[in-house]
Amino acid sequence: MTDRLVEANQRYADAFRDPGMDARPVLHVAVVACMDARLDLHAALGLDLGDCHTIRNAGGVVTDDVIRSLTISQRALGTTSVMLVHHTGCGMETLTEDFRHTLEDEVGQRPAWAVEAFRDADQDVRQSMQRVRTSPFLPHTDDVRGFVFDVTTGLLREIDPAD
Ligand SMILES: [Zn+2]
Repeated sequence: MTDRLVEANQRYADAFRDPGMDARPVLHVAVVACMDARLDLHAALGLDLGDCHTIRNAGGVVTDDVIRSLTISQRALGTTSVMLVHHTGCGMETLTEDFRHTLEDEVGQRPAWAVEAFRDADQDVRQSMQRVRTSPFLPHTDDVRGFVFDVTTGLLREIDPAD
């Protein structure tokens, strides 16, 4: 399968012209989103090459590693806004922390990381916003907004942090 992607890259490079950008995102925004294959962030948000940082993981949850990336994004590369995107039908809603114990039973070692499973995407967006806003490492926490993307309609729904 990877061969297919490498072949596609050769076609991409044939048409590619160096846009002469530096690494600082043009829109000064970092987007934290789930890795879900149905979520095409650039298309869904009207983003072009160079516009933003995209930080993705299972669930789009704000882990220590996401804070690490956001810290570098803000302090070294000039972003000032954070957008969080969870989505409907997320696989994280079907997991629990039992997943860690299952892993331990199977491989004889419990992972150091939390699964960060959640039942309610809206509530996890609120928690994620809170984690970003309270991070001592981030200089810009005024513009932090969270959304749930509907994979059946393509629409974002904003989550009110106060609900
Ligand atoms: Zn997901």
